Amino acid sequence: MPIGFNRSLAPQGGRYFIDEDGVKHKAENWDFLALRLANYRKRAGKPPGNPAAEILAQVCARQPNYCQETGPGPTPPPPTHRVNADGERGSSGKLTERVLKWLAHVIGMRRAGGAQRVSSSEAARRAAICAGCVYNRILNESCGSCNRTRKMAAEALIGGARVNTKLGGCKILSQDNRIATHLDLPKPSEEGLPGHCWRK
Ligand code: SF4
Repeated sequence: MPIGFNRSLAPQGGRYFIDEDGVKHKAENWDFLALRLANYRKRAGKPPGNPAAEILAQVCARQPNYCQETGPGPTPPPPTHRVNADGERGSSGKLTERVLKWLAHVIGMRRAGGAQRVSSSEAARRAAICAGCVYNRILNESCGSCNRTRKMAAEALIGGARVNTKLGGCKILSQDNRIATHLDLPKPSEEGLPGHCWRK
C-alpha cells in the first residue's frame, strides 16, 4: 500500500530536505521541494536520484507519525510490548524510531557514494551473527508507515537482496540489521559492543 504524508499534522521544522552534501532545501509545499531539489542537482551536475521518494523517506524517518498509508486497508493492531531476546519487556517503538533515523542517515551516505553493498556471503555471515545476538531486537511491526519506510529504504539500499527475517534492530547501534548486514559501513564509535559483533 502506498505511503503519503499525514496532512492533518504539521511537519516539524517545516517542509525541508537535507541533501548528502549538507545543503538544506526548503519550500512551501512538497511538490515544490522535489522540484527545487531536482533543479539543484541538475545545476550542480549531481546524479538526479529520486527527489520525491528521497524526501518521503527522509521525512518519514524524521517524523514517523507524519506519514501514513494512503489507501484503504486493515486497521492496524494497537501497539504491543514484546519480550525482547534477553527477556526484558519494553516497547519496540523507540528503537523503531531510532532505526528510521539511522536509515535516513545511511541513505544520505549512499547519495554521497558510501554504504556500498558487500558480497552476499559476507552479508550472510554477518546476519548469522546478528540473529544469535542478544542485542538484535524485534521492531514495532504494527507501525504501517514505519514498515513502508523500511521497505523503501531497503529497496534503495540493497535492492532485492535476500534478508534474514530473524533480524530486527540493533539495540546498541540503532541500525536496521536486515539492511546493515549488506552494507560496507564505517566503524561505529559506540562502546559496549559484544566481542562477537561484526561491526567492531
Ligand atoms: S550489530 Fe553487533 S551488537 Fe548489534 S545485533 Fe548485530 S552482532 Fe549484536
